[in-house]
Amino acid sequence: MNITPYECQACGWIYPTQSDLKSENSKGVVQFSELADDFSCSLCGVGKSEFRPIHEATETADSELYQNEYRQIVIIGAGLAGWSVVDAIRALDKEVGITLIAADNADRYHKPMLSAAFSQKRTATDLIRFTGEEAANKAGIELLTNSTVLAIDSDNRKVRLNEAELSYDKLVMAIGATPAIPPTIDAQNVWHINHIEGFNSIEQALSNSNNAKHIAVIGAGMVGTEIAEDLTKVGHKVSLLDMQHTPLALMLPEVAGNKIKQALIAQGIDFMGNSRVDGVDALPTGGYQMTVTDCDTSGEHKLKVDHILVSTGLKVEEALPQSAQLDFDRLSGISVQEATLQTSNPDIYAIGDCMSIAGVPCRYVAPLRAQASTIAEHILAQLGKHPKQAEEAYEHQAYVHKPPMIRLKNKSISVSATGAPTANEQFAKWQMISDTETEVGHELVLQQVTAEGEVVATATVKSVK
Ligand SMILES: Cc1cc2nc3c(=O)[nH]c(=O)nc-3n(C[C@H](O)[C@H](O)[C@H](O)COP(=O)(O)OP(=O)(O)OC[C@H]3O[C@@H](n4cnc5c(N)ncnc54)[C@H](O)[C@@H]3O)c2cc1C
Repeated sequence: MNITPYECQACGWIYPTQSDLKSENSKGVVQFSELADDFSCSLCGVGKSEFRPIHEATETADSELYQNEYRQIVIIGAGLAGWSVVDAIRALDKEVGITLIAADNADRYHKPMLSAAFSQKRTATDLIRFTGEEAANKAGIELLTNSTVLAIDSDNRKVRLNEAELSYDKLVMAIGATPAIPPTIDAQNVWHINHIEGFNSIEQALSNSNNAKHIAVIGAGMVGTEIAEDLTKVGHKVSLLDMQHTPLALMLPEVAGNKIKQALIAQGIDFMGNSRVDGVDALPTGGYQMTVTDCDTSGEHKLKVDHILVSTGLKVEEALPQSAQLDFDRLSGISVQEATLQTSNPDIYAIGDCMSIAGVPCRYVAPLRAQASTIAEHILAQLGKHPKQAEEAYEHQAYVHKPPMIRLKNKSISVSATGAPTANEQFAKWQMISDTETEVGHELVLQQVTAEGEVVATATVKSVK
């Protein structure tokens, strides 16, 4: 029986998992519609109504179709964004030539799993759904792995690799974003979990010893807060440092941040707010000494830890957008038009962590499928290959961006938000809608409202006693 996969709109987790399908019990895997009403996402916990069906690229018996006759679309980047574009094009056209180029090995994995993987005792290998090669064969595309695109010659529609050049008719940039490590910290001394290799490195380092370690996580945004709890659950001592007083302080007001902070402290996490890391020195005996400054008093103290993990935000590498002369900003990424996801060069599209719409990035998985489908439709129409073009005048359905539901994967506290929440109250103020103490716990419901009364965001924080 073919099981239609469904994707969680909050974190992108997919039902059924590959291990469900591979396991001896795979016969017990049922269609999503047959699951009980109280089914919830096993990664972030949202309910059944937050799932949508997905259609991944399907294998074709006729691999002859994929001979290099129409190699016209080049995609740079094989994260969730790049592979979503492959899926979306193949859903419409099984013949058009696609070359996917990735600086890594292009394995398909679900990145949000990385901040919940320690406590689930998963290694990097466990997280890979398909190797790059398997996925490329399945979709009938050319794949260049461990190949970094060094420059884009947009005048001649070519991408330049180390020892080769490749022509494109349409180019999709899905190059992601890289960790923005503060200049006071030497990148050699710290780990990050922004991709599976990063996760693999720290997972290997921690699994080499049976002893619990003292780990500093720098940055208490969503990812840092999730990773801090995940590492604590497997027995490590975690200090979570942030320049702000509370976790998630750039997104939520202090009343919500305080609730999250209390839940983290109750888990045993040493939350060090108001703390700026001004230096990291590797110790000759192993481990590191951090110089931490109190942001209010400027007082300085030293903190010794075994490992340091940074989660201090993302930036987009400038080499490719600059070489292609695209409208670009290092923090927000490559500017695209909302309706088509074309960059300032109409033959080049951008998707995922590397792009921004109206100057605002959206680094979440939920919008990727709709964005990929817009790009696929638009590119195929431009190449005269859209299936509907033969029968009728093709009309492009404009992409309309909707901020996705945000859900923290922490288990000690449930935090969800909709809209575009920000702690900056310049344009919209946070209002308390309810603050309820029950027998089982506590629930805060907040709304961010403009002076004209428009609700631009909501946040719900639930803690269990
Ligand atoms: C730990 C963690 C937890 C998260 N949890 C959630 C969550 O719960 N919910 C949610 O919605 N989002 C979550 N996110 C965010 C989400 O995972 C990302 O928004 C999404 O995966 C980004 O995908 P991407 O394909 O744009 O980028 P990436 O995954 O970074 O892929 C970029 C690709 O580009 C390639 N590349 C880059 N430069 C070049 C070059 N010059 N030449 C060739 N290839 C290149 C790379 O090798 C890579 O293959 C989480 C992120 C992290 C790190």
